[in-house]
Amino acid sequence: MKFISTRTKDFAGVSSAYAIKTGLCSDGGLFMPEEIPSLTESELVELLAESYEVRAARILSKFLTDYTHDELLECARGAYSAEKFGEHPAPVSTLGDGMYMLELWHGPTSAFKDMALQIMPRLFSLALGKCGEERTALILVATSGDTGKAALEGYRDVPGVKIKVFYPTGGVSRVQKLQMQTQEGSNLSVEAIVGNFDDAQSGVKRIFSDEKMAEELNAGGVFLSSANSINWGRLVPQIVYYVSAYCDLVSQGEIALGEKIDVCVPTGNFGNIFAAYIAKLMGLPIETLVCASNKNNVLTDFLECGKYDRNREFYTTMSPSMDILISSNLERLLYTVLGTEKTARYMRELSESGAYTLDGEDFAKIRESFVGLYTDEEETRETIKRIYNEKNCLIDTHTAVAVSAAERYRDTYKAERKILTVSTASAYKFARDVYRSLTDTDASGDIEALSELEALTSVKIPTPLRAVLTKPRLHNSVIDKSEMERVVKEFALS
Ligand SMILES: *Cc1c(COP(=O)(O)O)cnc(C)c1O
Repeated sequence: MKFISTRTKDFAGVSSAYAIKTGLCSDGGLFMPEEIPSLTESELVELLAESYEVRAARILSKFLTDYTHDELLECARGAYSAEKFGEHPAPVSTLGDGMYMLELWHGPTSAFKDMALQIMPRLFSLALGKCGEERTALILVATSGDTGKAALEGYRDVPGVKIKVFYPTGGVSRVQKLQMQTQEGSNLSVEAIVGNFDDAQSGVKRIFSDEKMAEELNAGGVFLSSANSINWGRLVPQIVYYVSAYCDLVSQGEIALGEKIDVCVPTGNFGNIFAAYIAKLMGLPIETLVCASNKNNVLTDFLECGKYDRNREFYTTMSPSMDILISSNLERLLYTVLGTEKTARYMRELSESGAYTLDGEDFAKIRESFVGLYTDEEETRETIKRIYNEKNCLIDTHTAVAVSAAERYRDTYKAERKILTVSTASAYKFARDVYRSLTDTDASGDIEALSELEALTSVKIPTPLRAVLTKPRLHNSVIDKSEMERVVKEFALS
């Protein structure tokens, strides 16, 4: 299977290892498989009795054909071990009335990014060998919270790779900061930047485009790479859990084999929901994909009227991982439905004016599979409280955005299919907002909110989150953004 660009028609295809190693196409587009492989009903039947790791190896091997099945199985076994994820890495639970929840937060950082960032470093490390790369890779990450910790945990002690994470002093929660400060591992470094997320991100972008720096690092046997969600290596592991959830629903007798379901995903960069769409294209019986947004509802408007317009106010919400105005992976949907020429045109319009409008026919094709709905802050709080009181189920702010959207979708569209809503974080990752939603009072502080929420609900704090409260803080350095180049160079060549 070759990988081609979303923007250029005759782009010479590359191997999946090369796509994972480089991240972005040379024409600025994103890598996509040249065709979507199929998943037949009899293959699905074979997967019913298999473990998550075996399901993962089977699905991945359809896309990553330059890896052997054994390599992929070994990567999956290392990534999704019981030690890291507990008994089932992605269990399905029920809310009643034909509503189910796919829980993706049982990994080491209690958020769904672990599902990809635990296995991608292993695929990346193998990719270096397959591409004949002898230099050390230095992964640079600017984070506003969840990605930084998940990337550190995934890349720690991976051979041939170093990782450096920058987070802004203003902009990550106390818990997120503690998670990063207490990170263990021999190949990593964490640094706080005085400023906001933009300062950290522009610093990293500046370093990526600094040719002189690239030469100096190259002379020292190092090259720079990134771990962000437009890398195909982060997308492909996310297809697996939709297939796995469908298998579990069949095995548990909740649905019949072949029965169509709807899926609702709390969306930011459009990576998670796009993985569900690929699963559908492969043949998994999914009818409608409900794209749930928070108050930053640029995708809701797009799916309502076909116009994408980022020229609007940006809101900081209780679901920060969805506070996004440019959803990068939407480009992959445009490409899949409309092809390279139109995608390149729309992406050019987006970068020039911040907006584009689909032709009626193009928009109709997207509407066949997607519905967009958004949930405001008030409704998010109300949903957390109601789902806890009525279903005895404790959900985080991002999941609440999706649960509310799923409920309204079923009402509005009179949809009678069963619906799988994706739960992307443990409630304890956003404990203070969850506590406030349940009690209408504030917890004593960000850290105190964890134990106060536990006392209130008797739901246990996930072990890795509890551990960061007492672990030594190994990374305490705070630097000015003008020092980023220097510290990267020092770390790279150390
Ligand atoms: C990253 C994230 C999302 C958004 O996922 P995308 O793939 O960017 O759409 C939703 N919820 C949580 C908790 C996240 O960390």
